Amino acid sequence: MTPDLDGPDLDRPDLNKPGFDTENLNMPDGSPLPSNTTPLFEQVTFVGTGLINGSLARDIRRLGLAERLVGTARQQATLDEACMLGLVDEATTDTAEAVRGADLVVLGVPVGASGDAARAMAPGLRPDAIVTDVGSVKARVIELVAPYLDMRRFVPGHPVAGTEESGPGAAIDRLFEGRWCILTPQDGTDPAATDQVAALWDAVGSRVERMDPLHHDKVLAITSHLPHLLAYNIVNTADDFEGVLKGEVLKYAAGGFTDFTRIAASDPTMWRDVFLHNKAAVLEVVGCYIEDLMALQRAIRWDEADALFERFESAQAVRREVVRAGQAYKRIPNGKYQRADSQRLLSRTFG
Ligand code: NAP
Repeated sequence: MTPDLDGPDLDRPDLNKPGFDTENLNMPDGSPLPSNTTPLFEQVTFVGTGLINGSLARDIRRLGLAERLVGTARQQATLDEACMLGLVDEATTDTAEAVRGADLVVLGVPVGASGDAARAMAPGLRPDAIVTDVGSVKARVIELVAPYLDMRRFVPGHPVAGTEESGPGAAIDRLFEGRWCILTPQDGTDPAATDQVAALWDAVGSRVERMDPLHHDKVLAITSHLPHLLAYNIVNTADDFEGVLKGEVLKYAAGGFTDFTRIAASDPTMWRDVFLHNKAAVLEVVGCYIEDLMALQRAIRWDEADALFERFESAQAVRREVVRAGQAYKRIPNGKYQRADSQRLLSRTFG
């Protein structure tokens, strides 16, 4: 199955449940994680304090990468939870107030809300503040924030990691360890700002890649957005079955289907925004997918055994490459998870 590229892996452990053995985790090269790193920033403000920003806040605090963490969100209840969990030192629903004094601002709201959030933060921003984001779509976010920010200091980013849960309570340690973080700086982006954002992601264990924003959106359309669309659709198709059959679908739900239901539990607002703001790339891959699906349909109808075998065999080879790239996890007999390319044990039973 496709690895987690922005949302829950089909076969990745849910690290935020009790029992995840953080003690045994190391840097991707096997060395221990640093614990008393020199701060990279004085004040980091998180605009949006959900899963992704909350997880980043946990790592920044654990690794001592900033002196002060401030959060903002729409709802006071979200901020109360973020403070209670110790994700941030201070929080306010006033976005301009929250970013005041920050040398780094991390925008972590649904991509469609990026422009409004940038407009709200603008009056409080330090002229030298670096602003970055974690949105799953890049070209459109750049367009949305451009009217309000100094784009020389805006470094678009996307940590390719996540789970199907959301909100501050879903934030976990080491979410980004060993995962890609794609930065999409523009021609005018200050290289020093890009380097500082790259240093942050590097410090939390990510592998940092720089990419053109439109290229990012095409790659993610196939590796992340299409799989989520399929998961939502498969679950709804099963749910549309009537009567006895529907009951049986739920009763006999096998591994493949339950994994799809897990992905389909992902936040509807976030994913609605991803599809609306990466429209061209997604429509292109959906078109290719439909053609390929129809070819499979035809092969089944006309008993084209060799054609089916070849398609399944080539997909199997892709899985082997994903495992070799260190981006897959597998279930082992005691119900725990292990990175599929190593003996490293992730002590987490699957719910
Ligand atoms: P989340 O857990 O749902 O948190 C979203 C945060 O944004 C909350 O603090 C929420 O505040 C705030 N927010 C929601 N709507 C808003 C609006 N209209 N205006 C201002 N603030 C708003 O979301 P997340 O999973 O962390 O996702 C955040 C970003 O990361 C998204 O752009 C997403 O594309 C990207 N991303 C997600 C994943 C993933 O797997 N989830 C992976 C990589 C990147 P309230 O609670 O007060 O509403």
